[in-house]
Amino acid sequence: MVKIVNIKTRKENLHYPIYIGQGIIDILLNYVRKIQKNRKVVLVTDVAVGNLYPALVKKIPCDLVIILPSGEKIKSREIKAQIEDTLLERKYGRDTLLIVLGGGVVGDLTGFVAATYHRGIPFVQVPTTLLSMVDASIGGKTAVNTDYGKNLIGCFHQPEMVVADVDFMETLTEEEFLNGLAEIVKTACILDKKFFERLEKEHKTILKRENMLPIIKKTIELKKNIVNADSLEKRSRQILNFGHTLGHGIETASGNLIKHGFAVSMGIAAENYISSKLGILSEEDSKRTRILLENLHLPVKIPEELETEKILKAMMNDKKNFHHEIRTVLLSRIGKAYKENNIYSFPVKEGLIREIIDRCKK
Ligand code: NAD
Repeated sequence: MVKIVNIKTRKENLHYPIYIGQGIIDILLNYVRKIQKNRKVVLVTDVAVGNLYPALVKKIPCDLVIILPSGEKIKSREIKAQIEDTLLERKYGRDTLLIVLGGGVVGDLTGFVAATYHRGIPFVQVPTTLLSMVDASIGGKTAVNTDYGKNLIGCFHQPEMVVADVDFMETLTEEEFLNGLAEIVKTACILDKKFFERLEKEHKTILKRENMLPIIKKTIELKKNIVNADSLEKRSRQILNFGHTLGHGIETASGNLIKHGFAVSMGIAAENYISSKLGILSEEDSKRTRILLENLHLPVKIPEELETEKILKAMMNDKKNFHHEIRTVLLSRIGKAYKENNIYSFPVKEGLIREIIDRCKK
C-alpha cells in the first residue's frame, strides 16, 4: 500500500510538500512529466545510486543526467563549478529544474548549485539514504566543504518538493543505515522524550529495519516544525546542531573518514558529558542517551588515534562560533534542549572541551 504524508514547510510565504512513504516514486515521475513541457529537467545523482537504480534513472523524464562520483569529497567548490559549467555549456537557463537523487552529499552540493545558478533555480530532493531522508533533504541547507572545515560555503535554498521513499533503504549497507540513525536519536534527544522512549523500546526492530516509516515520518515532522519556526537558523533552529559541534570537529579531523552520522553520535555523547559537567543535564539522562546510541550500534567513543588538538582546531573553524568562541547546544533533559534568554547555543571553554574529548577516548 502506498502511504503518503504531505507536510507543508514554510519558506518565506511559500509552502512545499514533503512526501514520505513506501513505493511513492510515481509522485516524482508524474510531477516531472507534468512540468517538463515548460522546463528543462536535469537529474543529478552519484555513481553508486546510478548503478543501483539504473531503471529508475532511465524512467525519470529529463533532458540531461549528471552522474557524480560518490563520497564526501565531491562536496567541493571544484565539483560545484564543474556542474555549473556543464549546465552553462548546454545553455540551460532559469527554466531549469534540478532533481537530486541521492544522499546528503549530492543533496547539499546540488542544492547549492541550484541556489546560485542564474541567481537561483528550483530543485527537487529525492533522498536515498536514511540520513538524507530524515535530515539533509529537509530544511533547505545547502553547502560545500573546504579544507578549513565542513559546510563553510553555502546558503539556505529550499527545495520545490521532497519525495522520501523508504524503499530506497533496502539497498543501504548496514553502515549507511546506522549512519542515519544518529540524526534520529539527535532529534529525539532535543525535542521529544516520548519519541526517545519509543526508540529505546523499539531498538531491536529498528536494527532489523522493520516499521521504519513512522520513525522517519516523526523525525521529519519534528525537524519541519523547527524549520518552520526559524528557517534561517537565527535562534531556535540552532538546536538541530546538537552533537554537531564536536561531531563536525571529529569528522573534519578524521579527513572525513568517519561518517557524518557516526561523528554526530560521538558528538552527542561528548556534548552530553559537557552538559552534565556544567550541571545542566543529569548523569542519568546522559548515560541513558549513551545506552540508546550503543543499543543502536552507534559509536560513543572518539578513536584514540584522532588527535585532540586536531579536533579542537577543526572546531575553531566551525561556522556556529561567535567571537572565536566554540559554541555548542546543550541538553537540559532527554527531549529538551537547554535554553536561556531565547538562546540555544553556548560558549564552552577550550579546556573543558579538551578534557571531554580525552574522556571520550577512554
Ligand atoms: P552520502 O550522500 O555520501 O551517501 C552515503 C553513501 O551511500 C554514498 O556512497 C552513496 O552513494 C550511497 N547511497 C546513497 N543512496 C543509497 C541507497 N539507496 N542504497 C545504497 N547506497 C546508497 O552521505 P549521507 O550520509 O546521505 O549524507 C551525508 C552528508 O549530508 C554530509 O555531507 C552532511 O554534512 C550532510 N548533511 C546535511 C544536512 C542538511 O541539513 N543539509 C543535514 C545532515 C547532514
